[in-house]
Amino acid sequence: MEIINRRQRMSSVLRRVRREEEKTIGLVPTMGALHEGHLSLVREARQRCDVVVVSIFVNPTQFGANEDFTRYPRDLTRDTAMLADYNIDYIFAPPVEEIYPKNFSTYVTVEGLSEQLEGAVRPGHFRGVATVLAILFNIVRPDRVFFGQKDAQQTLVVKRLVRDLAFDTEVVVLPTAREETGLALSSRNAYLSEPERRTATALYHALRTAKAAYANGERSARRIAETVASEIANEPEIRLEYVSVTDAETLEKLDKLDDRTVLVALAAYIGKTRLIDNIVLSPVKHGARAMVEA
Ligand code: AMP
Repeated sequence: MEIINRRQRMSSVLRRVRREEEKTIGLVPTMGALHEGHLSLVREARQRCDVVVVSIFVNPTQFGANEDFTRYPRDLTRDTAMLADYNIDYIFAPPVEEIYPKNFSTYVTVEGLSEQLEGAVRPGHFRGVATVLAILFNIVRPDRVFFGQKDAQQTLVVKRLVRDLAFDTEVVVLPTAREETGLALSSRNAYLSEPERRTATALYHALRTAKAAYANGERSARRIAETVASEIANEPEIRLEYVSVTDAETLEKLDKLDDRTVLVALAAYIGKTRLIDNIVLSPVKHGARAMVEA
């Protein structure tokens, strides 16, 4: 495992890999402060690609002015130690000026998909995400890139970015890794006190309640959203920022869910810490139900 800080070196090392060894390259983009969620992506990348690159870069352009960019947890030594067990090939950990050189002025905007949910409350967030990913894709030129369903909207933005700008890479999305309590793993969980961490488990419980209502035949988007909100309202320490019930692919707001695959996504503050989570609801196909019941 080699740690690389310079974009030129990263590009040239991988150019050689591609040309001389004809190997497939997998990229796992992260902001570090690694946890089991990241590691699930790394394991999949290890299985599916010959050469695995994990990028660790806290990307300034995806943080708003009042967000946690400066205090975001950074510990490259710890991250490197964690990755040492995973037989990866390269950690790409560039300083900010390697990604954004002086006079940087080119940004990528994925219109439409970036403007709802997270995009609505974090203006410019997905412009920062799409821009840094376009740069990473050009440096690494991965055959496959690995993302977590935890950031559901991000996966849609990335797929659209890859398709629209013709990046020659496959986007692989893996399920959200959770604690036993159901709390979605997140680098930001490090901000939580022990009592806050217990409180935060209410987020996933609320999403599970929505799933149960859906399984019992509830098809009103409004009532699904209300179910989530009222579950969370039982926890006065949580401030729900939004809960949205949308088409899982287009993020179109829905009224009746019918037989669509639906994303129920939320953002909430526990104290000063902002967390997101989501769940996907999809109708059981007749054949599948017959199989389950058999
Ligand atoms: P981040 O370091 O938060 O930018 O996340 C890097 C990648 O890890 C993104 O693709 C995330 O969606 C993914 N990720 C973060 N948390 C989880 C989780 N709990 N389960 C699965 N993937 C995750």
